Amino acid sequence: MATSGAVTPADLGPRSKLLVDKHAAYIASFSTVWEAADKLEHVATEHFWMSGMYWGLTAMELMGRLQDMDTDKVLDWVMSCYRPEDGGFGSSPRNDSHLLATLSALQILALLDALHRADALAVTAYIAGLQQPDGAFAGDKWGEIDTRFSYAALLGCSILGTLDQLDVEAAVHFVTACKNFDGGFGCTPGNESHAGQVFTCIGALSLAGRLDAADQDLVGWWLCERQTRSGGLNGRPEKLQDVCYSWWCLSCLSILGRLHWIDQEALSRFILYCQDEEDGGISDRPDDMADVYHTFFGIAGLSLMGHAGLAAIDPTYALPVKTVQRLQQQQQRQQQQQQQQQCGQGMQEGGSSAPSTG
Ligand SMILES: [Zn+2]
Repeated sequence: MATSGAVTPADLGPRSKLLVDKHAAYIASFSTVWEAADKLEHVATEHFWMSGMYWGLTAMELMGRLQDMDTDKVLDWVMSCYRPEDGGFGSSPRNDSHLLATLSALQILALLDALHRADALAVTAYIAGLQQPDGAFAGDKWGEIDTRFSYAALLGCSILGTLDQLDVEAAVHFVTACKNFDGGFGCTPGNESHAGQVFTCIGALSLAGRLDAADQDLVGWWLCERQTRSGGLNGRPEKLQDVCYSWWCLSCLSILGRLHWIDQEALSRFILYCQDEEDGGISDRPDDMADVYHTFFGIAGLSLMGHAGLAAIDPTYALPVKTVQRLQQQQQRQQQQQQQQQCGQGMQEGGSSAPSTG
């Protein structure tokens, strides 16, 4: 491929297909990372372990290869990162609680249908305790503010079915204050638009049921202008294309119903071209070193574009559609049970034998 030109079908060769076996073997090799926890190269990435586990597991599920992972062991490890003293999760058993690690832990528990292992009340209290008077969320007790944390808080509580425990209106107010003249969003009010931040803000507004607060056409144009001649997407004007923006930009366009505004064939070819055909994994740009982060976002982007053989991913939850549907069914059943219990209590307390219309 010419460095600035589009990837053509002829460029792809063995990479014309998604190399599922290679990627599954590559991701499975990371599932033992905590067994080598004291090796220096692993310690350096310790603050990403929980998210790395989520990226790897979700990519495996999208490829239909979750059975290649020792999920019992994964669950025990996730729970070893729980911090009962504050209700959050750390990114490793040695790390303090952080909102991003907490979200990744909840996403893993949802994916593996093991949310019952989390203390929903305690985790919700941890998340709600990070909300600030202006509606923003801090990432942890040290108080860094960023719209990434607004998304993490709203999604974490949506997964737990406890969104009503947050001040959602104030959260929407803060996210809206981060909106720029170009329709995009920054990490705090007044900061320049960036595709990663646009994703977290559109995601947060979607979870709050307030997409009306976004300038949908304007931000849709800003997002589709991220496609470069290579077919890949960048995160800001004048920046290089990078596979991870396949997810940040595409998920927003999908939420906004504007996925067709970009050239999906060109983007698919760019992602496939970034595969490591020897050792598996996907890199940020062609022939760079693969990592689990870009492997997940590449596969997730292909999933959003309906790539054959991949399960569908939900653009807001960043979890398989199947997982989100199961979650919503479980929450509906819980609500019905609670209503029935309340109804039964009401009848007992009222001493009425009349049928309830409740
Ligand atoms: Zn990247």
